[in-house]
Amino acid sequence: MYDCIIVGAGPSGMMCAITSGQTNKKTLLIEKNLELGKKMKLSGGTRCNITNLKAVDLFIKNLPTKNGRFLFSALNNFSPLNIYHYFENLGIKLKTENDNRVFPVSNKASDFITALGNELTKNHVEVLTNTTVLEVEKNQHFKIITSAGIYYTQKLVIATGGLSYPHTGSTGFGLEIAKQFNHHITELFPTESPLISHDEVIISKLLQGLSFPNITLSLLQDGKVIKKITDDLIITHFGLSGPCALKLSQFVYHKLKENKAVAIQIDFIPQINSESLLEILKINRNEDNLLKYLTKILPKRLADYFYHKLSSLSNQQILLLNNLIKKFTIKIHEVKPIQVAFVTGGGVALKEINPKTMESKLVPGLYFIGEVLDIHGYTGGYNMTIALATGYTAGFTTLL
Ligand SMILES: Cc1cc2nc3c(=O)[nH]c(=O)nc-3n(C[C@H](O)[C@H](O)[C@H](O)COP(=O)(O)OP(=O)(O)OC[C@H]3O[C@@H](n4cnc5c(N)ncnc54)[C@H](O)[C@@H]3O)c2cc1C
Repeated sequence: MYDCIIVGAGPSGMMCAITSGQTNKKTLLIEKNLELGKKMKLSGGTRCNITNLKAVDLFIKNLPTKNGRFLFSALNNFSPLNIYHYFENLGIKLKTENDNRVFPVSNKASDFITALGNELTKNHVEVLTNTTVLEVEKNQHFKIITSAGIYYTQKLVIATGGLSYPHTGSTGFGLEIAKQFNHHITELFPTESPLISHDEVIISKLLQGLSFPNITLSLLQDGKVIKKITDDLIITHFGLSGPCALKLSQFVYHKLKENKAVAIQIDFIPQINSESLLEILKINRNEDNLLKYLTKILPKRLADYFYHKLSSLSNQQILLLNNLIKKFTIKIHEVKPIQVAFVTGGGVALKEINPKTMESKLVPGLYFIGEVLDIHGYTGGYNMTIALATGYTAGFTTLL
């Protein structure tokens, strides 16, 4: 009989197992992959953006959801700053990039996994990899039926992630367990997912591969701006990607689901307002200067594309050019599905979970942590933080 069994060795499950093991409770971590933290290893382009170094209130304010307050206790137990110090104390040198995003100096996500693996060993956590939990039963205790045998535990923690990147192991098992124990699952949807457009400019692939640091995207519905985000953008062979497009994706998804026509307006030069840009374009209005100027402020391929759209250098055409640069509009037809999304939106309903412990309010001794819960953040270290903070919180409260 274990004191605590944790299903899933992603960041949430590993952190939970470590804090549980720290007080000499008999702890077992079960992972179906051969390796620990398979998704974590891929994260941040294999660099792992481990946290976003914001004060707790600001962190919560920056979440795209209304239910961020749920995280208040968990983030106070294990804040972004605590996470930073925790990994530095484990010997990982960290650096903070723009928008408070924290990465290892080595740029290797695997450093975090090795460090967490060492902590599991140090704290006497038993780890079973290559073992799939198949079923869970509860009588007086939990009975955990796995591909490698049956185990019993007083406390069971579900840390199996959402539905995104299922090849990393997150295939929705925890959501099924939640349902089995009468929990509600809120609508599941792709978030932090690329946007697909069938517009000619995308299909022609003329702009494929161009990337833009810090530009502004506006989400338009019926011609009105309903959300604006400034960050990096990549134009791909299917549409738009990069943090800016990813951050807008959940809003685009919901609008498309309501059968609304959705477009994205790109401001390629947000640092210059429209009136000033128009003046500069007019000053440069001759064939030699105009293309030269455009090439100075835009990638050459985009400068050529815009320049060749002009039929003359009339006032009207210069105004058109100004609009192309400041308000380039692309219709969005789909959001890439949940399996391709970086993060799963929705999950186990938070009103049924105690935010101080992550314990189910319906089933004593059952806990849910990480992405399986109905809480998520934008790209930028938020989701790793949510996984680590909820894991840490469950880990020490399962012992109370
Ligand atoms: C490509 C990519 C890049 C990302 N980059 C970042 C980033 O840089 N920063 C950031 O904050 N977030 C990032 N995210 C999001 C972040 O990785 C996740 O939110 C986070 O990993 C969720 O942690 P978790 O512990 O809840 O679940 P997961 O990491 O998904 O782990 C769940 C584990 O449970 C195991 N499991 C599932 N079912 C069973 C079962 N039945 N039996 C045994 N084991 C099981 C799985 O194999 C898996 O290992 C990224 C996501 C993706 C897809």
